Amino acid sequence: MSVSGEPSFRESVDLMFKRATALMDLGPGLEEKIRVCNSTYTVRFGVRLRGKIETFVGYRSVHSEHMEPVKGGIRYSLGVNQDEVEALAALMTYKCALVETPFGGSKGGLCIDPRKWDEHELEQITRRFAYELIKRDLINPAQNVPAPDMGTGEREMAWIADQYARMNTTDINAKACVTGKPPHAGGIQGRVEATGRGVQYALREFFRYPEDAAKAGLSGDLDGKRVVVQGLGNVGYHAAKFISEEDGAKIIAVIERDGAIVNDAGLDIEDLRQWMNRHDGLIAAYPHGTHLADGAAALELACDILIPAAMEGVIHLGNAANIKAPLIIEAANGPITFGADEILRKKGCVIIPDMYANAGGVTVSYFEWVKNLSHIRFGRMQRRAEEGRSRLLVEELERLSSAQNLGWQLTPDFKKKFLQGSDELALVRSGLDDTMRTAYQAMREIWHGRADVNDLRVAAYIVSISRVAKTYQSKGL
Ligand code: GLU
Repeated sequence: MSVSGEPSFRESVDLMFKRATALMDLGPGLEEKIRVCNSTYTVRFGVRLRGKIETFVGYRSVHSEHMEPVKGGIRYSLGVNQDEVEALAALMTYKCALVETPFGGSKGGLCIDPRKWDEHELEQITRRFAYELIKRDLINPAQNVPAPDMGTGEREMAWIADQYARMNTTDINAKACVTGKPPHAGGIQGRVEATGRGVQYALREFFRYPEDAAKAGLSGDLDGKRVVVQGLGNVGYHAAKFISEEDGAKIIAVIERDGAIVNDAGLDIEDLRQWMNRHDGLIAAYPHGTHLADGAAALELACDILIPAAMEGVIHLGNAANIKAPLIIEAANGPITFGADEILRKKGCVIIPDMYANAGGVTVSYFEWVKNLSHIRFGRMQRRAEEGRSRLLVEELERLSSAQNLGWQLTPDFKKKFLQGSDELALVRSGLDDTMRTAYQAMREIWHGRADVNDLRVAAYIVSISRVAKTYQSKGL
């Protein structure tokens, strides 16, 4: 326990895990085997920068190798430490099992403030960190495949991929050593938006079941729902943009590191993000809303849906009781502490848990990894064949209509949509949507089907842990 009376992040994840295993019959020893983190590698390396050697501390933690490769992002932040990467690696194991991506769980981190360094310096640091991990097979297409996380993105992944290729010149699958690469460097369409897109698909699926929405005292769909978003980084930005522009949700507040912007009529997320890009990532002076200096206070605003999309532990024992949102979707990893989770559940708040809600990223990473291993873009073989078949049907319908004088007219919009074969982006979105729906259904089956399960988090853990346990059992471990 820390001074705040809260367990550490890793302890919090373990406590949530144990809440689920208490309701399962895993057999002797298996609970512990699944729960513990297999290994954590710590590296301290030096890079000559600005005339002196700077020492950096990095980690790559492997939580479970029940399936390989293991998967999980690399985070750049000053908050990175061993406890954090181990908690995040554990969440990756459960997340991958829940959305059926065939990976074990891993996570990495570098203790660094990326804003302090320019692009060239960051490249040197990243390549050196990658070198340390690659030579120990902690980055490897068959064993351990990193991806972006907080503070990293396409650029860093491209450097890592290139570093791996330089060190493994004859590995034909080199590109599959990391996901989240830019499309021109072996990435896949739709990976950048994937986690936010997954949050949108998760919310849509939740609202497809009126009885689930009713548990949060809500009805209807996303249209008109009042939403507070914490963090307008890659995940929060895409989630907020998609649900407001495509589903009619109203983003009434956005919380960032320099406070919150509140606008009851709804914020234009694209406009706000453009503003941030022009103002060093700050929102305080944004003209189309009221600025609250105490950003955290905005977590407590009355709204329908709260989307914590920044980092762990933001809803804790100190503020949980004041949270008014009846529905929270954890777009970040671990935003609600174990104690806060208990308080919120007692209040009747419905929580769509992180391991499900933010699984869109790793799902599309899986598609990218498969694409890299198959060395061909999704849709390349089928797209025109699909279009050809649709065209045949349209032409035949039109021929019949005029031959029989039926006067049928296909609308130009229908024709355009129907004649379009699926490109890579369409296929990625369809695969992601299917994944999010299937995983939600697995969770809700447990949530509604078992009298001793009253929340989605425990349901998610039960689904994941059973799947991991099955893999261990069939391995004879
Ligand atoms: N860092 C992301 C996560 O926490 C993505 C991981 C991946 O794509 O491997 O899920």
